[in-house]
Amino acid sequence: MKSARGTEVIHNGTLIDGTGAVPIANGVVHITDGKITYAGSVAMAPPVAPDARRIDALGGTIMPGLVEAHFHATYFNVAALEDLDIKYPVEYVTLLAASNCKLALECGYTAARSGGCLFNVDYWLKKAIENDVVPGPRLAASGREICGVGGLMDWNPDFRKIGMDGLVLLINGADECRAAVRKLVKDGVEWVKTYPTGDAAAPDANDHHTLCMTFEEMDACVATTHNHGLKITGHCRANAGIKNALRAGYDTIEHGTFMDDEALDLLMIRNTPVIPALRFEQASIEHGPEFGMPQRIIDGHIECMECGAESARRILKAGGRIGMGGDFGFAWNSHGEYAKEMTFFVRYVGFSPLQTITCATKIGAEIMGRGDEFGTLEPGKLADVLVVDGDVLADISILEDRQRILAVLQGGVLKTGRLLAQPGNSSPP
Ligand SMILES: [Zn+2]
Repeated sequence: MKSARGTEVIHNGTLIDGTGAVPIANGVVHITDGKITYAGSVAMAPPVAPDARRIDALGGTIMPGLVEAHFHATYFNVAALEDLDIKYPVEYVTLLAASNCKLALECGYTAARSGGCLFNVDYWLKKAIENDVVPGPRLAASGREICGVGGLMDWNPDFRKIGMDGLVLLINGADECRAAVRKLVKDGVEWVKTYPTGDAAAPDANDHHTLCMTFEEMDACVATTHNHGLKITGHCRANAGIKNALRAGYDTIEHGTFMDDEALDLLMIRNTPVIPALRFEQASIEHGPEFGMPQRIIDGHIECMECGAESARRILKAGGRIGMGGDFGFAWNSHGEYAKEMTFFVRYVGFSPLQTITCATKIGAEIMGRGDEFGTLEPGKLADVLVVDGDVLADISILEDRQRILAVLQGGVLKTGRLLAQPGNSSPP
């Protein structure tokens, strides 16, 4: 991805630097050749060349680009999970995924960590974004997701011929785990996504169901993944499955819904980030009936939302790391609504807006293993910056409104946002 050349100044806004530090009322960011050289109070700012390009934040907010930490570029707003297998060929899925990446950038998400994808689209999407072929977040690619036979993603009886072949690699036993991970290594992914536990949405593997994968299978996945220098995560709702994942050495935990004190202790010892993805639960409860969800599944989502929120509160209180990612890509929880995850955390979980933004920026970059490159507005970091019309600390839901996104920069290049339409507001590479 090309960075901008020359000097840029983003001024006239409240500066939130993403570190969790107190916001600066009259803040300014200086950028040279795509990297931040200064982020702080305008009163303390060093002089800049008179020909520097200037972006006026119009009294709004200057903050790091957001990181969507549980992103499914290839989930095309499906009304049923099995649509992922039977509706479209890979050619069309790839185009839809590229469109979702463009949308995510327009929503202010300058980076994203994939939580699994159809076929091997992520890897090539990442390449296309890095080569400026299509616009999108800096992507951490996953591949097909590993799931035990008969587990969460394999509930359809064989005669229906819904094998979820594009989405999952089905395994039985540790040897097949090693083979599946090695296949993903060949595909070029950075993250291995697994399904150790069940989910409210699955009829035969509900959210307390632990053994979609055994400890031995998870352990074999971790060893092979780490042996190749990759990272591994898992859909972990049930308490025992979370502990298995932590003991096996998972790099992140998706959902982390039901956690006893022992699970929390293990999490804290390992400092493993958790991505709760709670807006998905709220959206499923709100819109489930329109999509024919039976009440027992909606009841499962209610339990997951409440217990997931409680786990998130306990993790934050204990000093743990939470990422913001909402599992968007379903008909009732669609692409473009990413910032609803943050609103949920402020309004329903009880995180402060500043805590939530730190989770969505700094922690997101750390989850991607790129915390030294972006995620905060500090000298030396890539100028991935979001400029918003309004005070996001007073009303976090402003971030849901694309009309309020004034500018989205990646490496100092103004990629999208309202200000792009104004004359002089381009940043040539
Ligand atoms: Zn997911």
